[in-house]
Amino acid sequence: MKHCIVIGGGIIGLCSAYYLHKEGHKVTVIDKSDFSSGASHVNAGIITPSHIISLAAPGMINKGIKWMLSSTSPFSIKPRLEYDFLQWTWLFKKSATPKKVASSIPVIKNINLFSRDLYEELKQASNDFDFHYQHKGLMMYYKTDKMGEEEWNIGKLAIKEGLKVEHLTKEEIQKLEPNVDLNIKGAVYYHSDAHMTPNEFMLKMKSYLEDNGVTFLANEEVIDFQISEGKIKSINTKNNTITADEFVLTTGSWTQKLAKKLGITIPVQAGKGYRINVKRETGIHIPAILTEAKVAVTPMNGFTRFGGTMEIAGINSQINTKRVNTIANAAESYYNGLQINQQERKDIESGLRPCSPDGLPYIGRLSKIKNVTVAAGHAMMGWSLGPATGKLVSEIISHKKTSTDLTPFHVERFS
Ligand SMILES: Cc1cc2nc3c(=O)[nH]c(=O)nc-3n(C[C@H](O)[C@H](O)[C@H](O)COP(=O)(O)OP(=O)(O)OC[C@H]3O[C@@H](n4cnc5c(N)ncnc54)[C@H](O)[C@@H]3O)c2cc1C
Repeated sequence: MKHCIVIGGGIIGLCSAYYLHKEGHKVTVIDKSDFSSGASHVNAGIITPSHIISLAAPGMINKGIKWMLSSTSPFSIKPRLEYDFLQWTWLFKKSATPKKVASSIPVIKNINLFSRDLYEELKQASNDFDFHYQHKGLMMYYKTDKMGEEEWNIGKLAIKEGLKVEHLTKEEIQKLEPNVDLNIKGAVYYHSDAHMTPNEFMLKMKSYLEDNGVTFLANEEVIDFQISEGKIKSINTKNNTITADEFVLTTGSWTQKLAKKLGITIPVQAGKGYRINVKRETGIHIPAILTEAKVAVTPMNGFTRFGGTMEIAGINSQINTKRVNTIANAAESYYNGLQINQQERKDIESGLRPCSPDGLPYIGRLSKIKNVTVAAGHAMMGWSLGPATGKLVSEIISHKKTSTDLTPFHVERFS
């Protein structure tokens, strides 16, 4: 048994703690916040085998720059004269080639399916704790023929990869979603996807771990490491020095900053997004992406969540009300009769997606410092990939054969 310190208590940190604990290790989770906010709480909760195209797809930088000056665009990149940002942008552009995107497709699909199976195992096979989980698929709604064609081209690629995907007319969709009046032309329907209620799961997972001997240290920011003989001996927070055998970096968008203290380059930029909760009956029961607006819609446990925007604009949680209104207005324009009121538009939260330049997460050991495992950079798929990543972290630390090949997730691929 080893004492493992997990730095960062988002979905990746909690799932790492869960599987490490199951392997019999002593686990401590440390977070600079109080474990109640951030990307892992505000996300759309969609389990995403459908998201086979990585964020680093050809044309994305151009789109981000084109949309840069628009305060209502769904994706934007705010240029900054900072080395880390410029390096990330350059690496992103280098990764955004058709060949690299194509080679990532099976990797992304397989780890998403593996993770979905683990969520289902957690839900069905274990009696650890119960949580909201539904497997109803994901609709990619579109209003224009051009978008319909683009989405169906991706759908056809997904079919080749073995996913069940259908191209549906508006009439066929209305039969599946009878309690809403949709203002769309059609949808590409992925049967592979599932959905959950993130805040509920985070709370229940944390309570389960606490009840089973995992220690949680809130409001403790890790600021430095003591390294000797190629290993971390201890970490420093403002108030404490803590020793352990193994250290796991699950620090999301802050990973690059912390990894620098270890002399390692792990490029990560924060991609800010917002969520709006509507705690009234909306009639929506199948999750959807409103493709022209890039808004995610999820029927959660007791409310409907609308999430969107991707602002690459540094680490900050400032709310841009114009972008929030754009999400709400887009939702109203796809669902006739839906009204998101002023209070709902005010009561919003933001979260930072940890984006790697090639759209793939970092999962694995460092080469020079032997007792560090990194699990970060999951961008738009961090919720979906929580269990798979946590399981892989526990396999690495327990010296077991990993369930998937870790080569595409190599932590030092940009060093
Ligand atoms: C609007 C929105 C919608 C989304 N929808 C989906 C979706 O439908 N499906 C999906 O799969 N993903 C979705 N995502 C992405 C997903 O939420 C993220 O990828 C995921 O939450 C990242 O988890 P994480 O644990 O890596 O990071 P985080 O949740 O950010 O956790 C990192 C933690 O590390 C802590 N930390 C950082 N530095 C330190 C330090 N030095 N010391 C101590 N603690 C530290 C932070 O306080 C934080 O709590 C969405 C994101 C957003 C914003």
